[in-house]
Amino acid sequence: MRRAAVFACCAAGAVALAGVAGGSFGTGGPALAAGRDADFALAGELTQGGWARGRVPAGAAALTLDGQPVTVAPDGAFLLAFDRDAARTATLAARLADGSVLTRRLAVSPRAWKIEHIPLGPKPGTPPSEAFRIRREAELAQIRAARAIDGHGGGWRQPFIWPAHGRVSGLFGSQRIYNGTPGAYHSGTDIATGAAGTPFVAPADGVVILAARSPFTLEGNLLMIDHGMGLNSAFLHCSQILVRQGETVKQGQVIGRIGMTGRATGPHLHWSIKWHDARLDPLLFTGPMR
Ligand SMILES: [Zn+2]
Repeated sequence: MRRAAVFACCAAGAVALAGVAGGSFGTGGPALAAGRDADFALAGELTQGGWARGRVPAGAAALTLDGQPVTVAPDGAFLLAFDRDAARTATLAARLADGSVLTRRLAVSPRAWKIEHIPLGPKPGTPPSEAFRIRREAELAQIRAARAIDGHGGGWRQPFIWPAHGRVSGLFGSQRIYNGTPGAYHSGTDIATGAAGTPFVAPADGVVILAARSPFTLEGNLLMIDHGMGLNSAFLHCSQILVRQGETVKQGQVIGRIGMTGRATGPHLHWSIKWHDARLDPLLFTGPMR
């Protein structure tokens, strides 16, 4: 769900601004000479599953991305991000106090996801029981409630670090297609460290918005951290959660232990990141593991 707003910032990272059209003006005020570039100071990964931070032009009163409001921090910084299946272009628009609008068309580069074709039909599953359905509904309600919390943290401004080091055993966005029928794509990055019990840390500052008291059916012991501006991390299958709901955590702080609770075939940390409803690729926040 969309919180109040808008995001912003400035960040490091390879900026994929190539192909970004020059700024154009909607209802240009007299002070805005035609052809003046709308300067959003964007930096980041303008690609599917990626993100960018920027800064609104002086005098901006509101910011939107494809018509959806984007929260702007008091210093003018904002964050925006692009779903795994985002369209190839997006439009950023800032409305100035005088009513004029600065827009910028963004080129969002497509990704080549790891797709596996399986020449068999989808595995026949047994229909979920009524008991499962009721339990699952309650779990999803907890997750929705957690995502609605805005911890007002500043983690969204930080370069992220890996929560654990190990083998990347599952890539964000990868997908199996069973005899032509696509299965759900993998929504996070999996990190396997061998045995269960390895501690993992917060990739950025944040506030704990969900610390499961008992394992969820699929996610197992689920831990969610809000990084501010609609950006949050989820950590699945934990053997142990070492922080409490509402607690503020710092980047690098140990927050849990890797496990295989919920639906997992071996101990690993599944780390997913969302910005509002957009599912993002954790690798684009951290860069390759060293
Ligand atoms: Zn996973």
